[in-house]
Amino acid sequence: MNRRHWLGAASAWAAAWPLAGHAQSPDSAAPRAESVAPGSLPFAEPPRPARMRVSADRIVDITVCTRPFRAEGPRIEAQRLHGKTVIHHYGHGGAGWSLSWGSATLGALPLIRETGARRIAIIGSGAVGLTTARVAQRAGLKVRIYCRERPPEVASTFATGMWSPDSRIVTEAHATPAFNAMWERMARHSFRAWQDLLGLAGSPVEWRDGYVLSDTPFDQPLPNANAHGGSTEPDYPDLLELIPDLHPHSMALTPAQHPFPVPHARRFTQMTFNIRPYQRLLLEDFFREGGEIVTRDFTHARELAGLPERTIVNCTGYGARALFGDDSLIPVRGQIARLVPQPEVDYMVAWRGHNLMVVPRRDGLLVQAQGEHDFNNPDRSIDRAMSEDAVKRLAALFV
Ligand SMILES: Cc1cc2nc3c(=O)[nH]c(=O)nc-3n(C[C@H](O)[C@H](O)[C@H](O)COP(=O)(O)OP(=O)(O)OC[C@H]3O[C@@H](n4cnc5c(N)ncnc54)[C@H](O)[C@@H]3O)c2cc1C
Repeated sequence: MNRRHWLGAASAWAAAWPLAGHAQSPDSAAPRAESVAPGSLPFAEPPRPARMRVSADRIVDITVCTRPFRAEGPRIEAQRLHGKTVIHHYGHGGAGWSLSWGSATLGALPLIRETGARRIAIIGSGAVGLTTARVAQRAGLKVRIYCRERPPEVASTFATGMWSPDSRIVTEAHATPAFNAMWERMARHSFRAWQDLLGLAGSPVEWRDGYVLSDTPFDQPLPNANAHGGSTEPDYPDLLELIPDLHPHSMALTPAQHPFPVPHARRFTQMTFNIRPYQRLLLEDFFREGGEIVTRDFTHARELAGLPERTIVNCTGYGARALFGDDSLIPVRGQIARLVPQPEVDYMVAWRGHNLMVVPRRDGLLVQAQGEHDFNNPDRSIDRAMSEDAVKRLAALFV
């Protein structure tokens, strides 16, 4: 497995330890890691993390969805089609939630405004469609959403829920200065918007601490770090270096400062999203401002001609591949097991080299592991054995 891809999926976690993959020096993430020396934490007794209760029988749900990835980045552009102005707004890879506010406000909204429309249609009610709808409403527009599925059935529901604005958003080869500048603006705008959602009922957004664990020192590459494991996955740029000020620093811990049976650990702080209550909040706000949702499955783009709205924003995610024939959309499979919620567990865990990541959400402990062939894999069937293996690896941390 290409470790950089794993890090990409947990993008901001890269801030917590030096990258140990190919094509990048082990120290490349060091400038933003800025860890303090072990034993010099600013407080004497760091909090002891509550014990996770980990066993396969505590899995309450396993979900699979695909990230809508495009090598050149999201498609955000207007097109005249079947007598309508269609504004494409899809292809946000593993960053759809994180970038949603910036992409809608700085990408889609200016194109909507150019049409002069006061009423618009949006196709899709995933992360991108719902947020675009809210941004358009705030700009004073009337919005009707058409979609095949609505929350919680949309693919966006099955995301991890982490601030990961750089995750599978563009390939290294396509990260031009213009793209990077736009990405940075979107990331900064989104970050600000997320801070406005802190402290609300249902905790749609929270800051969490987490531990990155390692069997080997963080400045040493992992065994087999250069192996691609047969994956065709491309390399991704290190976009987080454009926003170093948006990441609290990580801290190296001595073995006495954490309870895990591994020799190396760092503590970091990361923003997380409780997706289900957050979707509800978006929907409630959308309806309160007069929004409508119509269930509709478009089988061909020419069906758009029958809609009353003249401006249509296409937020169909991976669905754009079939509906608009966009073969540049690549599905990147992701499977997550949810364990019985443990409100006392308020920290994340990533175990370097063990293909394991855990995020505590209000609806359960999310255990994510990456499959060898997730890239360009549209298969949404559940591989329970893979999740049970990940849970077993996690259990080893709580013997
Ligand atoms: C395992 C996993 C973990 C992830 N973790 C994170 C994370 O931690 N942070 C993060 O920021 N991102 C994460 N992502 C990425 C994020 O989930 C996606 O970028 C995001 O969901 C894309 O949202 P979307 O609205 O474009 O697509 P979708 O959620 O797929 O919504 C598409 C909408 O369009 C509708 N539609 C599609 N085709 C048609 C049609 N023909 N007719 C009518 N309606 C149609 C659908 O019904 C739906 O309403 C993760 C993804 C995966 C797979």
